Amino acid sequence: MATTDIDVLLVGGGIMSATLAILLHRLDPALHICMVEQLEDVALESSDALNNAGTGHAGYCELNYTPKDKHGEIQIRRALEINAAFEVSLQCWSTLVKEGVLNAAEFIQRVPHLSAVWGEQDSAFLKKRHALLQAHPLFAEMQFTTDEATLHDWMPLMMSGRQHTTHMSATRVGHGSDVNFGALTRQLVAYLKTRPNFTLLTQSRVSALRQVQHRERSGWQLRIQHLPSGQSQPYHASFVFLGAGGGALPLLQQSGISEAQGYGGFPVSGQWLICNNEALIRQHHAKVYSQAAVGAPPMSVPHLDTRMIEGKPALLFGPYAGFTTRFLKQGSRFDLAKSVKFRNIKSLLGVCRHNADLTKYLIKEVFQSHEQRMDALRVFLPDANSRDWQLAHAGQRVQIIKRCHQHWGKLEFGTEIVASGDGSLAALLGASPGASVSVKAMLDVLQRCFGDRMQSPAWQESLKSLIPSYGESLIEDAALLRRVRNDTLSTLNLAQ
Ligand SMILES: Cc1cc2nc3c(=O)[nH]c(=O)nc-3n(C[C@H](O)[C@H](O)[C@H](O)COP(=O)(O)OP(=O)(O)OC[C@H]3O[C@@H](n4cnc5c(N)ncnc54)[C@H](O)[C@@H]3O)c2cc1C
Repeated sequence: MATTDIDVLLVGGGIMSATLAILLHRLDPALHICMVEQLEDVALESSDALNNAGTGHAGYCELNYTPKDKHGEIQIRRALEINAAFEVSLQCWSTLVKEGVLNAAEFIQRVPHLSAVWGEQDSAFLKKRHALLQAHPLFAEMQFTTDEATLHDWMPLMMSGRQHTTHMSATRVGHGSDVNFGALTRQLVAYLKTRPNFTLLTQSRVSALRQVQHRERSGWQLRIQHLPSGQSQPYHASFVFLGAGGGALPLLQQSGISEAQGYGGFPVSGQWLICNNEALIRQHHAKVYSQAAVGAPPMSVPHLDTRMIEGKPALLFGPYAGFTTRFLKQGSRFDLAKSVKFRNIKSLLGVCRHNADLTKYLIKEVFQSHEQRMDALRVFLPDANSRDWQLAHAGQRVQIIKRCHQHWGKLEFGTEIVASGDGSLAALLGASPGASVSVKAMLDVLQRCFGDRMQSPAWQESLKSLIPSYGESLIEDAALLRRVRNDTLSTLNLAQ
């Protein structure tokens, strides 16, 4: 069978591949790009609206982005970096809205971001965190209150029926956002499909890949199986991106690149309680995050979220994390077992030995009853009625396991790009802060794999026109931040 030649092959049709496709298409419209998705459409795994929390992560409300160091001091660097990275996404989306590629109303909404805490210790933490963050221009709009009337005004539903408000405090940023990453992905792909040189293959799985290094032809040889017919077709690509979400690790292992050695995955499932009472949904308009329970992993910080899904407001609480052996929601229960290899077994054993508490926590979460889940919700909504809430499954997150000399292996809760030394293949592992920083993450892929072309005046100019702050620091340059933020907030209708 004849081999189909392409320049760029993107495995997976989620937000990451869609973002990389749009960047590459703008930088070089002559590149032939092929996106391969095993499901019947794009954005049906983690990027789908109900499979993630839709928070435009900017560090406004997520308390785990400002951890304490070993001296008990609050560190704000991570929150600043995530905020600046999210501004890069907002700029890219704004330019695409102005050009008519995206429709803002269909994928992003203004939903204030709040952190709320109870108790003397957590209130003192929140007050200090606010003081540190608000002193930086990125967080200048953040408000703090312990005042009961203001708390009622900010979150009326959460305050109703509450007996004790002493030592309750909250922060609020009005221009926080709810992002429907599924709708965003579908809009990006719908636009790409109108362009020459872009091909989308759905119900098609990348089942094998192998590096080829002949003098006349280097790159990757792939087999793509059309699932309904079972037929496989050979492809050759100069560059491959494994944007396969939880499916990226097995393909990375199959690639055989030395940079992948020692990597493993630790899958964590997620569940929400979804409100079915319209009157309650209308009374809440915020994303309210609080502290994670002691021993809980950072991705299970509880939050009560206003969401906009298919044009309708919704109210979700969670996520409840749980133990799973699947790497994708629609994956196989043998995914975890199949990922164990000679080259990563030491890292996996190290993680098992040093994270027994986390495993126990996740298994306990799986066996919670509806009433136990409701009890967690009642910390937020004291009057919550079990009949108003239904359980639904969210997406899977595969946390990164990598080598570490001290403990053999360590568990990471962030995102990481693993790329081959020659820049012909890159994979995205991990899921936090996730889709919110997809533009910055994909710019990092380009930097690692298209380094020379990224320095060319043509690509620099093109990136500047898409992301006005490109190449400059929004953390250091307050005047640039003001200009950029005024523009993105107004273009995306996030201003108050
Ligand atoms: C519970 C939960 C809450 C989250 N909350 C947030 C949030 O509030 N804000 C935020 O920014 N991020 C959040 N995230 C993270 C965010 O959802 C992910 O970072 C993002 O969606 C990942 O996009 P992706 O394109 O890498 O993967 P996906 O959207 O999962 O897409 C990967 C695609 O690859 C396909 N695929 C896999 N293997 C193959 C193969 N061999 N061949 C062909 N196709 C294949 C899959 O079918 C899938 O469609 C959350 C995630 C979870 C699970």
